[in-house]
Amino acid sequence: MSQELEPKDCSTAVIYHEMYDGRGFSRIERSWGRYRRGMNKFMELGLIAPGSPAHPLEYDPATYPANSAYIPVIRGREATEAELLTVHSPEHIRHIRAMDAQGTGMFDRNDTPVWPGVYRRAALAVGGTLVGAELVASGRARHVFHGAGGLHHAHYDRVSGFCIFNDIVAAVRYWQHNYGYRRIAILDVDGHHGDGTQALLYQEPVLKVSIHQYDGRFFPKTGALGERGTGAGWGYSVNLPLPRFATDEEYLPLLQIGLDQVEAYRPEVIILQYGVDAHYTDRMVGLKISTRVYEQVSQKIHELAHRVCEGRLLVVGGGGYEPETVARCWSILLANLAGRRDELGQRYLELYDNPAALPEPVSGAVDEVNRLLQVVKQML
Ligand SMILES: [Zn+2]
Ligand SMILES: [Zn+2]
Repeated sequence: MSQELEPKDCSTAVIYHEMYDGRGFSRIERSWGRYRRGMNKFMELGLIAPGSPAHPLEYDPATYPANSAYIPVIRGREATEAELLTVHSPEHIRHIRAMDAQGTGMFDRNDTPVWPGVYRRAALAVGGTLVGAELVASGRARHVFHGAGGLHHAHYDRVSGFCIFNDIVAAVRYWQHNYGYRRIAILDVDGHHGDGTQALLYQEPVLKVSIHQYDGRFFPKTGALGERGTGAGWGYSVNLPLPRFATDEEYLPLLQIGLDQVEAYRPEVIILQYGVDAHYTDRMVGLKISTRVYEQVSQKIHELAHRVCEGRLLVVGGGGYEPETVARCWSILLANLAGRRDELGQRYLELYDNPAALPEPVSGAVDEVNRLLQVVKQML
């Protein structure tokens, strides 16, 4: 009850770097503009200061927080090699450097291109998340959003699905080493399974909940209900697989199960991998989710963070390949985290999908999720 007497601190920060305006990791050039598109939307809504993404503030613990009516935009940094080594093999890091010097080709079979400068860009994606991890753990910001993080397919010694280094696990290691956190919860709502994150932490009691499209063939082919962890990690991988074409109706009960798992774990800090490629306009994933689900994710994880861990919530961007959709979903998140939803009024409501365009439920998918729910309820 004491929490209700305290005024809720929703201090929020956004992490950005000028290099995010440039080339991204995927082959889909159109999607590279999503970071800037998101920032422009934040400016349009008055959430961040005009011009701030082009000139992010250097993070300085001595002067932070900057006193401003806007959500501060803090410059990310490159992760050091020592930080990357907390997650990846030395061979993997050497391989990325060597490929960068070579400057052409593909890291994995046909997903992730090599280009000059890709090492630095990949190290920035991790460093930005670590700046966020530090802000959240030090209490300087309760909530942080780093859209360029969330690279959940990167494995110990393997690039996969546009992910070179795994910034989520780097944040876990950062908190374990620097803050002694033992109970870290990861909720991954990207349309794809968070396979790299799961594999890197499979034997550890770090809670990993992933809600994703799954049929055994869809990329990355893992994420079945039966994958639950091993050794000390047994029971700490929770996979909630959805059939293709699942809509909000099928998604929301699974989301609630995932949130209940996070709450029961009583985490000291929460990472949300907020991939928005499950949205119905996104062609990378076959799910048919609307902005209603992304609003529910944003609001419920936010409330949960205040209930269980003094609001400590680090949100990383993950997938999302339709820049216009990404900008709207990210704005819904940021407005809710920062407690600015009500003051935005009509401009907030305009972030929702057009109700006339929403996909209809597909009966096969509904039946499949109903069967799945029965199994999950017995299992967890
Ligand atoms: Zn808050
Ligand atoms: Zn994805």
